[in-house]
Amino acid sequence: MASRHDFTLHIDTHRCTGCGWCVAACPLDLLSLSTVDRRKTSTLHNTKICTGCRQCEAKCLFGAIEVRFKRPVAGIHGEPYVQSRHAGC
Ligand code: SF4
Ligand code: SF4
Repeated sequence: MASRHDFTLHIDTHRCTGCGWCVAACPLDLLSLSTVDRRKTSTLHNTKICTGCRQCEAKCLFGAIEVRFKRPVAGIHGEPYVQSRHAGC
């Protein structure tokens, strides 16, 4: 889990298939694939630089990567984005 300002970036290593779409999507090259327990998974390398732009989240077909905001923000496509898909954060 990465944390900066008013958001955190979560990568669910159980959902992640290691497809690499999020890696290609990050405009700052902050993600790469790592091997954890013999499975490839996405990893964020620099939490301080991550802008929370959510381009990685938008590319993931498996719901494995998510930027969680501590307060409501506009969605990627302008729709209201109230909170994380996961409860209790
Ligand atoms: S796009 Fe999703 S499933 Fe693919 S490597 Fe990234 S987090 Fe994992
Ligand atoms: S939120 Fe944006 S800057 Fe941060 S890892 Fe994802 S694509 Fe990169």
